[in-house]
Amino acid sequence: MGDHVHIRLKDGMEVSAAGELVETYHCPCGSTWTKIYPVEGREPYTVQGP
Ligand SMILES: [Zn+2]
Repeated sequence: MGDHVHIRLKDGMEVSAAGELVETYHCPCGSTWTKIYPVEGREPYTVQGP
């Protein structure tokens, strides 16, 4: 797929072994993302999947 605008559909959330809240998303094109909410005052960040 080319330069379409991704749609982030939420797959769910879980808590990692480190105690971080982790949300997973996917687009119908197959792209995936993981959004991580670190513990203790750090900004959430998003990691794009392969
Ligand atoms: Zn997409």
